[in-house]
Amino acid sequence: MPYYSEFEKKPVSQLPDGLGIFVTNLYGRDQQSLVQFLPTLRSDSLHHNIVRFKETKIDVKIPKLKKKVSLRIPASRWKKLVKDKTLSKQQTQKLKRLYKEYRNVGAAKRQCWSAPVESKKVSSFASPRTLPNGHSYFHTGVDLRARTGRPIYSPSDGEVIFAEELVVPGKTVVINHGSGILSRYLHLSEFRVAVGDKIQKSEIIGLAGATGRVEAAHLHWEVIWKSTKTNPFLFLKKWNAHCNQNLAYGL
Ligand SMILES: [Zn+2]
Repeated sequence: MPYYSEFEKKPVSQLPDGLGIFVTNLYGRDQQSLVQFLPTLRSDSLHHNIVRFKETKIDVKIPKLKKKVSLRIPASRWKKLVKDKTLSKQQTQKLKRLYKEYRNVGAAKRQCWSAPVESKKVSSFASPRTLPNGHSYFHTGVDLRARTGRPIYSPSDGEVIFAEELVVPGKTVVINHGSGILSRYLHLSEFRVAVGDKIQKSEIIGLAGATGRVEAAHLHWEVIWKSTKTNPFLFLKKWNAHCNQNLAYGL
């Protein structure tokens, strides 16, 4: 279980003010655990700032694969996907290397996050899927209803580290938010940012669309922490419990 060993080695990310607060969930086959580290105490000593952490563990059951949803992908599009299988695999490997490269680049701001589009969730994180060839997998993000052309906003400040059209994900943007936190946006119809752009929260990164392996237009949104796909809304909820707060033990 690589996700668990990675967690053992790097349990928290530190925010710039030195008060380590980070929340992650571990994406496993049978269940995901959410481990939350909350500072509870800071000493008054000038020389020995001690932060103790309280750990909360929440197990979240992932639906069994028998409840899987079959994706209805148009035959012509599926044929093209099969043809581009090798290219698609290479692209997946390239992205994995990119995530690895950004496990520790920059420091996240203590800034509240918002959803990239205010819309109805049409498919949950970790829901099981089946492709026309019978292959099943777990959904690595959330799908939000968004017609083609609807603006998609950055949920937080960051830097664009990827903006390309790929076989399965379609037009894809990846943003580095620092402290190992990345966010990813799939199936866009248009890019509004380029690699290297420093962007602010609520800036438009692209327009929703139906590029790649999709049934219809929507936004697929992911939050990735140190190469691990996490539940975006769970992340948002936990992160926003601590953002922009003058905590009693703060500086
Ligand atoms: Zn999706």
